[in-house]
Amino acid sequence: MPPLRTFPNWNHYIQLILSGLVVAGGIVFLNITFSNDFSKREPVWADSVRQELAQLETEFFNFSEHLNNVVSGSSSDLAAVRSRFYTLYGQATKLELVYAYWSSKENNDHAQALEAVRAFADATAQFIVADDLVLETALPDLLADADATRPSVHKLINSPEDFITSVVYGGHNVLAATFVKPAILFILLGLVLALGSLVDYLRYLKIQKYEQLRAAEETLTRIDTIVQTSLDGVVVAGGDSSIIAFNTAAESIFGYKAKDVLGKPFGPLIIPGHLLDAHSAGMERARAGGERRVIGKGRVQLDAKHANGCTFPVELALQSVETEQGTIFVAFLRDISTRVNAETELILARDQALATARLRSRFLVTMSHEIRTPLNGLLGNLDLIKNTNLNRKQLSYIEDMETSGALLLQHVSDVLDLTRYDSRNFKLREVPLSLAAFVQSTVDSQSGVAAQNNTIVEWGWIGLPQNWVLADPDVLRHILMNLVGNAVKFTRNGLVKISLQLSEIVDGAAKIIIRISDTGQGIKDDLKPFIFDDFVTGSVAYDRTVGGSGLGLGIVRRSVNAMGGQIDVESKPNVGSTFEVRLTLVATQPVAEDPNAPHDYKIAEPLHVLIVEDNEINRVVTREMLETDGHSTMELQDGASAVELCQNTQFDLILMDISMPVMDGRNATRIIRDGTGVCAQTPILALTANALASEQATFLDAGMNGVLIKPLSLSVLRQTLNELFTKTIGGQVLEEKVSHHAEMRSVLGDVTFDQMRALFLAEAEELNCWLSSGALPALEDISRRCHQTAGSAALFGAHYYRTALNAIKDAADAKNTTEVASGIASLDAVWRQTERAI
Ligand code: ADP
Repeated sequence: MPPLRTFPNWNHYIQLILSGLVVAGGIVFLNITFSNDFSKREPVWADSVRQELAQLETEFFNFSEHLNNVVSGSSSDLAAVRSRFYTLYGQATKLELVYAYWSSKENNDHAQALEAVRAFADATAQFIVADDLVLETALPDLLADADATRPSVHKLINSPEDFITSVVYGGHNVLAATFVKPAILFILLGLVLALGSLVDYLRYLKIQKYEQLRAAEETLTRIDTIVQTSLDGVVVAGGDSSIIAFNTAAESIFGYKAKDVLGKPFGPLIIPGHLLDAHSAGMERARAGGERRVIGKGRVQLDAKHANGCTFPVELALQSVETEQGTIFVAFLRDISTRVNAETELILARDQALATARLRSRFLVTMSHEIRTPLNGLLGNLDLIKNTNLNRKQLSYIEDMETSGALLLQHVSDVLDLTRYDSRNFKLREVPLSLAAFVQSTVDSQSGVAAQNNTIVEWGWIGLPQNWVLADPDVLRHILMNLVGNAVKFTRNGLVKISLQLSEIVDGAAKIIIRISDTGQGIKDDLKPFIFDDFVTGSVAYDRTVGGSGLGLGIVRRSVNAMGGQIDVESKPNVGSTFEVRLTLVATQPVAEDPNAPHDYKIAEPLHVLIVEDNEINRVVTREMLETDGHSTMELQDGASAVELCQNTQFDLILMDISMPVMDGRNATRIIRDGTGVCAQTPILALTANALASEQATFLDAGMNGVLIKPLSLSVLRQTLNELFTKTIGGQVLEEKVSHHAEMRSVLGDVTFDQMRALFLAEAEELNCWLSSGALPALEDISRRCHQTAGSAALFGAHYYRTALNAIKDAADAKNTTEVASGIASLDAVWRQTERAI
């Protein structure tokens, strides 16, 4: 739509009118001034008119006299005649000019007199300008004419006063008229301009009105076009629900023609029966100004009814508009049958995909179980054979078999890890750990392979270290083991360097950069973009020799992502690779002992263990491992017989397989725990090849105390037993590790060391007795003595005994007698463990 004409520039017109009026005013002012001035000068001007008349008479007399002299012969001076005539002529002309302002000369004798003088002057002039002879001849006639004209001259000279005044005023009026006329002209011009502006304004108003009408018409046409061409159905209804508009899309959505529905109530036409009551109630509420559940609530999904009676889903946006004719309702509708069907199909497909994923997980778990169980047998037996008398050749075969078995186990673990990370219930476990210890143990674990490859592995901090952080040890171990493992695997005669760098620490969040660089074969450019994808391996031939499923970096990527970090790689073929892992970890204080450090020494106390396992090889392997460490065992093949035996036979530990005939391990555990048998409180460990965390949680739910994953290794078995059979204070698993005794002994010498140990033992024994001898001693004394003996305990590395004493001291300082009593109650157990250890 063209823009409406803007209002004309009124200022312009106003200025014009004002200036016209000002000019006119000026002229009028001048005129008035002139008139005032004139009235002052009028007497002077009248005098000058009289003078001019007198001068005319004088000149007429002089000329007549000279004329007479020549005609009478008393003079022949023609030049003097001519001279006197010119003077007379000049005077007559002057007078004539003066009389030109005289307005009423036509009706006056004075006019005729002046005419006569003028006629005489003109007639004489032709002889005056002729040659002397002509003039001489004409002189008598000229004299006669002069005599005849004399009365007229007299008449003029004797002009009455009013005549002279009228001549003077005539001049004034002419002058005044000269000023007044332009003033009138200007005023007229101003008026014309004002009129022009008025006309222009009226024209403008008319155009504006027209343009508004045109704009309104255009808007209506456009709205109508939009409504008609809208892909959404548009139905407009009045306050009484009768249809006012029904566009083309509505026609095709509902199967009605507009002409058939206009004027009819829309409810029964397009709303399905089961919604009609709700619809009527809603309309009623809207009319009464009550709560609006659909109107103005944006898009809502509802059922609608087609002309053929079928119900289908629509998306509806309903608005009400107040008009001069009352409320109208505008509904925008969209048939969403296709979308709803597609969504239903999508949900179905998603459910199927989820079911497939679950199936895949199940399959992987089952397969892992199936593979791990025989692997358990293989590796366990290899472990046991290694400890028998073997010659070097046999030992080398066994070691090869162990390597292959470990590789196979690694593949199974990789596949399981994928399942674990991809499952939605993967959760990080954050515990305090020392990065330095972690990297060191990783380097240690790779040192063998590195030595074989003639490769040096070194590590260090760049800048200030931040050793202690909160992190998931399993996930971090995965990352380091894979990256360092790869670096060592793909480097020959080179260097693998691990650097740790604390880039910044903000509010306790430490940004750690871990770089693993090697001088190995590097990664080809075409492989680099896919290196973190699953099942991607480089040179197949080379990988065959070093082994690899192509899952390692895929798991690393998942692990880094799970920890909220990033990983990048830079690599040049034949130069080397650098993997950079950036993690943000919570910085924490050092803990006395890294709880993640493995405790794989055998526990001192021999245990009586029940092994419940249907697989004979696994049973044998487990038994052999336990007996190697001095434990005694009993074996059963199913859960039901275990339940029965546990009723009356006491065991220190039950190792329970999960999948067994007759009764599985979970059910057996539940029954033992719920029963009143002697083993109701006995620790039960699951013996399973199922490494999925979600599954393992169900074992704990059933009442088991922990999980041993097949294939079972002696070190993991020892570690688990250590964790289980050390005592607890405040929920913390305790054990004493006094490995630095050897160091102390070598420093102090055997004799001194033994004396000191005896002293410490006596001091501790005495304290323990004093604390548990009946009534609670004074809290100050408890605090002092516990503190003292805790110092001695620290000397002998009796960490948990020292911790227990410090806990009692702290409770005593806090005057918390309940805590003190419970600390004392559990001290005996900790001490017995400590005593054994030192
Ligand atoms: P795998 O578990 O089989 O080792 P990865 O996902 O760890 O698989 O590695 C995929 C491929 O990336 C390897 O086959 C190798 O070609 C390449 N690669 C990984 N790390 C390095 C490295 N440090 N140097 C050279 N190539 C590497």
